[in-house]
Amino acid sequence: MFFHLILTTECNLQCRYCFGESLDDFDEDFGEIEVDYGLPKKVNYNVESLAGFCRKDPDCVLTFYGGEPLLCADKIKQVMDNVEAKLFMIQTNGLLLDKLEPKYVNRFHTILVSIDGEEALTDYYRGNGTFRKVVNNLKLIKQNGFRGELIARMTIMEQTDIYKQVRWLLDNDEFSFSSVHWQLNAGFWGNDYQRRNFEQWTKTSYIPGVKRLAAFWVDQMEEKGVVLKLYPLLGIADSLLHEEKNCFMRCGGGWINYAIQTDGYIIPCPTMWGMKKYYLGHINNADPRKIKKIFVYQPPCADCSILNVCGGRCLYANVTKRWSDEAYSKVCHTVAELLEAVKDEVPRIQRLLKNEKINIKDFDFIKYNGCEIIP
Ligand code: SF4
Ligand code: SF4
Repeated sequence: MFFHLILTTECNLQCRYCFGESLDDFDEDFGEIEVDYGLPKKVNYNVESLAGFCRKDPDCVLTFYGGEPLLCADKIKQVMDNVEAKLFMIQTNGLLLDKLEPKYVNRFHTILVSIDGEEALTDYYRGNGTFRKVVNNLKLIKQNGFRGELIARMTIMEQTDIYKQVRWLLDNDEFSFSSVHWQLNAGFWGNDYQRRNFEQWTKTSYIPGVKRLAAFWVDQMEEKGVVLKLYPLLGIADSLLHEEKNCFMRCGGGWINYAIQTDGYIIPCPTMWGMKKYYLGHINNADPRKIKKIFVYQPPCADCSILNVCGGRCLYANVTKRWSDEAYSKVCHTVAELLEAVKDEVPRIQRLLKNEKINIKDFDFIKYNGCEIIP
């Protein structure tokens, strides 16, 4: 099982799509879902309890998460020193990566670092100077011996040209990534759709960009024999090639990838903190292999023709319904178009597999590593 450890609810950045949106989200209306806004700001359970919890599952993978988890570097060290996890990972904004000693950083199997593309765009979303500090830290951890997977985790919305920014992340003079994932800022806030330009952006920029990216991705297979880890494309292609059926959240939220709040309660996904209705037990006494599973068997997903690939996109968005059905259908349209973009490339991929230019194993990846696959 995979668990996001929410080490703190605090963050050292004030990004537009997170802090900025939260300021505008005055009507935090979660309907019948009661939210506990009084969670401790930092972990208040005993690390020994966490160790006991993880010991029950030999495949326990822990991902440090926040807020910004590196604000609690001491807790990270304490957990890594005392808890036997199969793997450790972290999702971070990268600003404090230089504050954690290499002997810990180098033990991370995967680091997901938030970066939205080139400097101007990253700083526009995340604040001036963010890009420079993060890139310097990434260079430093590489120098200090980090050899695990480093994933550029983009949050995207109207100012992002997906094709241009992903290409830039893959190939630039500052710091090039070989793994990229992107997530749409869509369906997470209560009243942003009306004041945004989401639908037009998806039609004129995002969807055409995804199609170009899918073609570029397969061009790289053809020209260089590499399957780049562009997670949304990779995950969907992997499912199509294996004829998989994914009726569960592809992020793993609510069935294989849970989160542990600062007070030790287990929830389906980190964004669902404080939602008492979804508390699924406490690390003091729960068995990680037997936590209740939550699925979305309700409209619109229940009746959707692409549920078997999409998996329902996001449990949080489904249960909170922050966007109207009409607005959310625009998000679903992007999923359908992304699926079509990959499907269109499958014959070419199959030819390359047949000619042994690439290998089916090149599509392997660690599922539930924090890349949700469906943006
Ligand atoms: S495309 Fe939309 S309706 Fe269909 S499964 Fe995904 S989230 Fe649900
Ligand atoms: S996609 Fe939704 S349910 Fe899954 S991890 Fe992200 S916020 Fe949680």
